[in-house]
Amino acid sequence: HVSTKPPPEPSPFRKGKFIQGNMRILITGGAGFIGSHLVDRLLQNEKNEVIVADNYFTGSKDNLKQWIGHPRFELIRHDVTETLLVEVDQIYHLACPASPIFYKYNPVKTIKTTVIGTMNMLGLAKRVGARILLTSTSEVYGDPLVHPQDESYWGNVNPIGVRSCYDEGKRVAETLMFDYHRQHGVEIRIARIFNTYGPRMNIDDGRVVSNFIAQAIRGEDLTVQLPGTQTRSFCYVSDMVDGLIRLMEGENTGPINIGNPGEFTMLELAETVKEIINPKVNIIQVENTPDDPRQRKPDITKAKELLGWEPKVTLRDGLPLMEENFRTRLGISRPE
Ligand code: NAD
Ligand code: UDP
Repeated sequence: HVSTKPPPEPSPFRKGKFIQGNMRILITGGAGFIGSHLVDRLLQNEKNEVIVADNYFTGSKDNLKQWIGHPRFELIRHDVTETLLVEVDQIYHLACPASPIFYKYNPVKTIKTTVIGTMNMLGLAKRVGARILLTSTSEVYGDPLVHPQDESYWGNVNPIGVRSCYDEGKRVAETLMFDYHRQHGVEIRIARIFNTYGPRMNIDDGRVVSNFIAQAIRGEDLTVQLPGTQTRSFCYVSDMVDGLIRLMEGENTGPINIGNPGEFTMLELAETVKEIINPKVNIIQVENTPDDPRQRKPDITKAKELLGWEPKVTLRDGLPLMEENFRTRLGISRPE
């Protein structure tokens, strides 16, 4: 979907009209895992000012401590289900818990965040003429009947399952993005993010890479959920941030898959973590949760062609970088 409408009148806040050449960027969910890495990258550019709005449900100020007090950075405790009045040129809208244990913890709140939160941010984008990027998810493909998944696939989602608050919430968020675009001419970008990993992930958030790494470092069994043959494709966070910025800066609305096509079964992932981090641990099989997608791998043809983007960091290169960060936070150094 290339934008067919002429772009709206340039925002009075855009590119220098408001603050002499600076770009003012709002990042919702910027205290979280991906958001805080995005803040780091955007603030490396001296022409950017960044405002983070976050309610700290799964994120933390600690992820942003390097920027607190910086003149081009501002941190607001704010819940996106409430309206927010700021003047910005761009909005990266990430606010939403991403780990199944957190988004299932209060499913009604998850839906409010995805639906009302996205509507509020679109309203803001419309008012100030900002461009808005939504971090949607590969979960919109559900338990996919097409493999690998490309953006034209409409998905296979259970509308009443325990994961629906998240998958269906993000599907509505995508719908809202396109309706604001078609009806009000808001400039939109949609990224469909596939499993991402790296430093600053919550240690006990239940996601598979963080679980296995923490377990291996602590010398505990690696818990592969049955059947263990289910697959995922893991993207290192620096590649993800690079893809999101290219999408924001480019001319395509998306949706565009951003992920690493390297596909692994959960048993393979456990073997790899064991080999790299702690060959002494055991791999055990445990019960799974309902509606777990059996396979997932992005087709990234569109990202390559339209954004000139593809991931650079392989799983074997990324895992040790994450191990180092987890060891520091857990206070367990590598045995000699
Ligand atoms: P995260 O949980 O680390 O970050 C989400 C951030 O949003 C947190 O800082 C949290 O406190 C904040 N937040 C949650 N609800 C909020 C609300 N109502 N108001 C304000 N802030 C709120 O997760 P992440 O992995 O960094 O994910 C970021 C985005 O990327 C999410 O939108 C997620 O759906 C999407 N995504 C992530 C992955 C992944 O593998 N990490 C995969 C697909 C999509
Ligand atoms: N998983 C696992 N062991 C764990 C946690 C998760 O085997 O300790 C599996 C889970 O069953 C799923 C995959 O890892 O098949 C990815 O789960 P995650 O929660 O990381 O993300 P999802 O892609 O399901 O949102």
